[in-house]
Amino acid sequence: MTSSIYKIIQNKQLGYQNSKKEISDLINQYTNDQIPDYQMSAWLMAVYFQGMCRNEVEDYTEVLIKSGKQLNMSHLPGFVIDKHSTGGVGDKVSFILGPILAACGCFVPMLAGRGLSYTGGTIDKLESIPDYKTNLEINDFKKIVEDVGISIMGQTEEICPADKKIYSLRDVTSTISSYPLICGSILSKKIAEGIDGLVLDVKIGNGAFMKTLNEGKKIAKIIQEVGELHGIQLYTCITDMNQPLGYSAGLWCEIEESIQCLKGVGSDDLLKVVLHLGENALKLAKIKKPKSLILSMLKNGKALDIFYRMLEAHGVKIKKLKDQKINKPKFKTYIFAKSKGYINKIDTEKIGLGLIHLGAGRFEKNDKLDNSAGMKFLKKKGDFVLKKDKLVEIFCSNKDKIENAKNILNQTYHIGPNKIKESQLIYK
Ligand code: URA
Repeated sequence: MTSSIYKIIQNKQLGYQNSKKEISDLINQYTNDQIPDYQMSAWLMAVYFQGMCRNEVEDYTEVLIKSGKQLNMSHLPGFVIDKHSTGGVGDKVSFILGPILAACGCFVPMLAGRGLSYTGGTIDKLESIPDYKTNLEINDFKKIVEDVGISIMGQTEEICPADKKIYSLRDVTSTISSYPLICGSILSKKIAEGIDGLVLDVKIGNGAFMKTLNEGKKIAKIIQEVGELHGIQLYTCITDMNQPLGYSAGLWCEIEESIQCLKGVGSDDLLKVVLHLGENALKLAKIKKPKSLILSMLKNGKALDIFYRMLEAHGVKIKKLKDQKINKPKFKTYIFAKSKGYINKIDTEKIGLGLIHLGAGRFEKNDKLDNSAGMKFLKKKGDFVLKKDKLVEIFCSNKDKIENAKNILNQTYHIGPNKIKESQLIYK
């Protein structure tokens, strides 16, 4: 007999533990369209407020994995590894690190998600590349990993369908920043990939779901422990998200920045995070001299070559991509400094919100995105500016949206007379 959905929601609402059967009935029925969004939303909100105990987190993760197929990658002649982040603004590390790891001899079957709340989504950014397919059949995904070394796509009806459906519901019901839900969502995708190792980047700060170091440590611990239970080797680090990572945030502009970084011209903070995660990923793979190997793969163009080969395997015409000006925004404007001084604080969550207003993210499940939408950060924390200096360039293809976003962004840079101590970029 299946459990009553009403009772499952009520149990969680009152702070009781949901049994494995209750969790399994709820998730499976929701995935099969047997219960409506409003009941699932009620349960998600109850979890948001009441949390889950350790057993429930393990059960929830397992049920999400079992909603689809699990890949077997054991035939591949190398270490199978992936990277994931808990979400931030301007976080494009996957596009750079994934090809680097493949160039170093690893195999990277990467399942990623769309934008969540004010944080950007890997899949949305990839879909700004004309013709890139993010919804492949399992065999095609596996073949690209075998041939190229890396493939990045989204959850499908075959792999992690439950996470696919719950993920987009969480996005519009303000139930994202719940540790058990984040843990299940990340680990289900990663475990279903059939990986040997995972490097996890837990973002903390005013542009992340975890605001403080303690919160970051708490979620890193749960993910590490539940991941290890499934036989995955994990390296977890905590990195700063008190300002956007790199010099751009949005859709196509982040792909452009990633290509520049793969050509060796990345911004300092982005390159540091890529190198740190990369070194530790290669250590898990027992590959010697990881840092110099990574730097050589950037210098000799092999990582960039793998990135282009992955795009091609996903349907992109590389010549067209290189020859034409694509996703050119129709409108552009700037945010200017209101006074002279040092940039001491950037309200990163508001920047993420501004990106949604521009069309780079969604307010509702079926909102259509504007691939040209984004921002370039001309100044970052710690920089000295004069009154009326340009701080941020904003662009998109809708005149009303750019005005809305500009109003929000006008309040994001805080300038003071004295330089304050900058936050640490990487906490090991
Ligand atoms: N990344 C995911 O895949 N899921 C989350 O819930 C948060 C970040």
